[in-house]
Amino acid sequence: MNETVALDVRHLQVVLGEHVIVRDLSLAFPVGRVTAVMGPNGAGKSTLLRVLAGLLAPTAGEVLLGRRPLAAYGRRELARRLAILPQRPQVPADMTVARLVACGRYPYGSLLHRDKAADRRAVAAALALTGMTDFAERQVASLSGGESQRAWLALALAQEPELLLLDEPTTYLDMAHQLQVMEIIRRVNHERGTTIIMVLHNLQQAARYADNLAILSDAELQAWGPPADVLTPTLLARVFGVRAEYFHTDGGRQALLPVGLLEES
Ligand code: ADP
Ligand code: MG
Repeated sequence: MNETVALDVRHLQVVLGEHVIVRDLSLAFPVGRVTAVMGPNGAGKSTLLRVLAGLLAPTAGEVLLGRRPLAAYGRRELARRLAILPQRPQVPADMTVARLVACGRYPYGSLLHRDKAADRRAVAAALALTGMTDFAERQVASLSGGESQRAWLALALAQEPELLLLDEPTTYLDMAHQLQVMEIIRRVNHERGTTIIMVLHNLQQAARYADNLAILSDAELQAWGPPADVLTPTLLARVFGVRAEYFHTDGGRQALLPVGLLEES
């Protein structure tokens, strides 16, 4: 087992009902890096993330965290190592942001036996990092989309995980709030060294914020590597069925943009 690997996925297979969602996927997620998982709707990205979080047992194969398979970890022990922010977290009724974020401390001991000062520090740091300190006493249900997403992110950060799994963390947000969340995620990666694995749809955000991309479709890993190597017109045509072209800015930057459906051309 290589110490530069955060999560080692070996010959993973996931079958749900009669559907093969993931077929023989092997992939080593590098430690301290940001990986974006991309692919069409229904490709199995959320399913993969749930398996990586230990929430869903694979049909075959295994996922190693450190030297041990996820299945060998206890619930709390695992929650101290990794946190997941699902695609649509359920907003609890009548809960303040502070209480929601404090739930992230659950893995660190029972009500009677816990380090309350460490809990307070972790919650305060998570609120500060997400810019949610001033919202601590607000009801979660009363927050805007961007604020709500930051509150959930703060919950995951209060867990102080070495590995953070995020399922479409920006999908329901406007452009500015998408970038705000991406910047927070980048800071978490830089300042805490947290390994990030996140499902993204936006090409520009993936190119800008991810060190590596994992492209998933038809139950298989279609491509893996740095965005500049992976994101090509050929790949986007094959995996997403879109026609894409390179655009160049005056400043010398290059962006690959979808310009139409393949069948139109
Ligand atoms: P993505 O996140 O890439 O959009 P999902 O992982 O949510 O894809 O779903 C992948 C496929 O698995 C879809 O076809 C979905 O209908 C199917 N699926 C998801 N959950 C279940 C389930 N519990 N039972 C059967 N099929 C499921
Ligand atoms: Mg999904």
